[in-house]
Amino acid sequence: MERESLEMDVVFVGAGPANLSGALHLTRLVAEHNQGVANGGREGRALGEIQIAVIEKGATVGGHILSGAVPRGLAELIPNFVEEGAPLESPVKEDHFLYLTSKRAIRSPLTPPPLMNHGYYIVSLNRLTAWMGEKCEEVGVNIFPEFPGAEMLYDAADRVVGVRTGDKGIDKEGKRKPNFEPGVDLLAKVTVLGEGVRGSLTKKLVARLGLDEGREPQVYSLGVKELWELPDDRYPAGRVTHTLGFPSDQWTYGGGWIYGMQNRIVNLGYVTGLDYRDPLIDPHAEFQRFKSHPFLTKLLDGGKMIRYGAKAIAAGGLHAMPRLYADGVLIVGDSAGFLNAARLKGIHSAIKSGMLAAETIFEALVAGDFSAGKLQTFESRVKESWITPELRRYRNFHAAFRHGRWLGMANAGLQYITGGRAWGIFDRARQEAGHEAMGKLSAYGYQGDDVAQRYGNFKFDGKTTFNKVTDVYHAAVAHDEDQPAHLHVLDTNICATRCAEEYGNPCQRFCPAAVYEMADNGNGQRHLQINFSNCVHCKTCDIMDPYQIINWVTPEGGGGPDYKGM
Ligand SMILES: Cc1cc2nc3c(=O)[nH]c(=O)nc-3n(C[C@H](O)[C@H](O)[C@H](O)COP(=O)(O)OP(=O)(O)OC[C@H]3O[C@@H](n4cnc5c(N)ncnc54)[C@H](O)[C@@H]3O)c2cc1C
Repeated sequence: MERESLEMDVVFVGAGPANLSGALHLTRLVAEHNQGVANGGREGRALGEIQIAVIEKGATVGGHILSGAVPRGLAELIPNFVEEGAPLESPVKEDHFLYLTSKRAIRSPLTPPPLMNHGYYIVSLNRLTAWMGEKCEEVGVNIFPEFPGAEMLYDAADRVVGVRTGDKGIDKEGKRKPNFEPGVDLLAKVTVLGEGVRGSLTKKLVARLGLDEGREPQVYSLGVKELWELPDDRYPAGRVTHTLGFPSDQWTYGGGWIYGMQNRIVNLGYVTGLDYRDPLIDPHAEFQRFKSHPFLTKLLDGGKMIRYGAKAIAAGGLHAMPRLYADGVLIVGDSAGFLNAARLKGIHSAIKSGMLAAETIFEALVAGDFSAGKLQTFESRVKESWITPELRRYRNFHAAFRHGRWLGMANAGLQYITGGRAWGIFDRARQEAGHEAMGKLSAYGYQGDDVAQRYGNFKFDGKTTFNKVTDVYHAAVAHDEDQPAHLHVLDTNICATRCAEEYGNPCQRFCPAAVYEMADNGNGQRHLQINFSNCVHCKTCDIMDPYQIINWVTPEGGGGPDYKGM
């Protein structure tokens, strides 16, 4: 197929906080350098006009972004972000921490230090990201929404030389439609992968080049979230509450959040560790049960759910991070696992990693050297920055909870006072990949996949608690249905046989968007039906499938959720 090639200097894949910070910072560094050389203040040659592109699979910058969110720092990138009009909801005014039993909410007199947010702002990350996109465009960065990075481009020596964007206008049989447009080969000296959690290109690159050799497996959680409009000011803007306990059982990592935003909107959600053991767990149902707690039903009484979304979180920490560079490529933000799992904060380190990548690329541009040898200074920069001490301190945090909630909390406490040592002694705790943690139905004495065996007679009431289809409607998801499914199940025979028997088809439960369904094919047999148009791009299926046969790839550009205020 004839494809157009476009020569860029640097291509950033994904318009999230990490890459937008990288593109903005790089543009400034180049401009300062050129000006310095022009007025004699700097030695060397001017770099001239550097072509920077940011490609984004969503229809708009920010449209696929979902977060809490209380970022811990924007000032390093944009020192006067308040005066410059960053979309901020409210400064954090109160921090609360609650332990939930099934009936009671016990308020802790002390908020655990990692969960203290005083001095920061509550934001909607998808609004903040859109604003950062505008800042980039003001300084000349080319941003291309609706352009998914579909494949990495390598030369004969396995050096990354750019990225191929996805084709448009292919029908569900794989044939070209009249509006067919082939993807473009964006050739770049450096490609920066900032695809967020479980990046589809990052996953393949890491496997191909063995960048995760000697590291612990990455582990993940899933955050499921709604926005609610309340009838009065009962939950003020600036109040931050975190919860532990109900509804998670003691073997399941989990916790809730409730953040007060402007205009009587509350943003609430629940995180479930994607290393849960009980195969009947459904993270969406866990969130709905969270809202059925008396503390939440009282809070939400008379309110209206207005938005829904879900996204995975990379929680493995420092030991699970892959090598961050190879020839012609860098990995930043959540794609590399920069998130601090104890605080559930990754925006600040995503921003910082983008900035450090920009400094590395700037130096490489000046030297005209884009080899791994040159780009490895990115890792030294990360080591010398505040990122590494922060991540070191919490390096074993998620692994602590493999032993259940109470031992996990004791272990996390010992880690806190010993600077991150597991049980206060060991430098590095072992982690297991989440999908390996899932137990079989038989281990729980379950007969088949009836969720009532776990959730009893819990029902969605349509007032406070909702089924997945209702929720997905509030994610404003849209994919052209006449395209090949972007969820590749490599062996569908397993679904009706081994998986049904061993795990009861957990994809029907771990997907928070009702994408996977075991449907009756009319003669009493069940087969896997993939409702891909519901997909909210959370990546849970790619992570949690026990046989690792689900491969999430980018759909046609622009498809996916349309998050607003999330
Ligand atoms: C429920 C939840 C709550 C959180 N709460 C907080 C919080 O309170 N504070 C905090 O600091 N952090 C929080 N985080 C973490 C924070 O959101 C992330 O750390 C941060 O967004 C990472 O930024 P990023 O740029 O690496 O990735 P992302 O923000 O995920 O952005 C990646 C972008 O790349 C695009 N993309 C992906 N693949 C491709 C591709 N192949 N081609 C083109 N585009 C692509 C995506 O559509 C997206 O726009 C939370 C996360 C979740 C899920």
